[in-house]
Amino acid sequence: MIFGGLQKLTLIDFPGKLACTIFCAGCNFRCHFCYNRELVLAEEIKRHPKISEDDFFEFLSEKRKLLEGVCVTGGEPTLQKDLPDFIKKIKKLGFLVKLDTNGSNPGMLEKLFREKLIDYIAMDIKAPLGVKSKISNLKSKKYEKVVGAKINLNKIKKSIELVKNSGVDYEFRTTVVPVLHTKEDIIQIAREISSAKKYFLQNFRPKKTVDPKLAKIKPYPQEFLLEIQKAISPFFEICQVR
Ligand code: SF4
Repeated sequence: MIFGGLQKLTLIDFPGKLACTIFCAGCNFRCHFCYNRELVLAEEIKRHPKISEDDFFEFLSEKRKLLEGVCVTGGEPTLQKDLPDFIKKIKKLGFLVKLDTNGSNPGMLEKLFREKLIDYIAMDIKAPLGVKSKISNLKSKKYEKVVGAKINLNKIKKSIELVKNSGVDYEFRTTVVPVLHTKEDIIQIAREISSAKKYFLQNFRPKKTVDPKLAKIKPYPQEFLLEIQKAISPFFEICQVR
């Protein structure tokens, strides 16, 4: 595993739990709005200080009485082959595990669910999935535009189904970005993942984004996100703006 950061305490990332967050380096997406450049762009990953697995477990062993959970985030954690073994070690110390994923690796998700290694999962839905084409391949130029990379939408769709049927507590979430998403896009996403338990809309934060042009974009007003949330709430048990 390659780690690019550790947040020693979070009260908000793992619902209802006191947790820490470990950041995995490397991602197969290049979301324009992503503010974790140092975990995504190869040159920045190289320059950014790393955390060794030994140091992380030393920290975790010392926090057994204080923390309840570990959030494993990225980058994209499911790209790292050692992820199941890494999580097993965390669980052996008695911690619950939350995983953040972009949903591009359903094979890894299947394995993690099968081995009961996940206690909570959050999956990003970056854009509408689109409709089935004649060659039975799922296509969405929109998705690729938002994530800045070639992707296999069938894998994203498979991950959505795996997460919904995993029996593990979960959420889907979308970062809503002016210039990338319209109200109609979010309504379409809501239709596509409807009957999901929880769906969160996250407002874009113009920080040090992967695409520097986006750092200058003003987020949508909170009222606009609340208006969308009102329109899509009937599709979900819980739907909120973060
Ligand atoms: S926001 Fe996109 S580019 Fe950034 S870590 Fe997540 S999936 Fe990767």
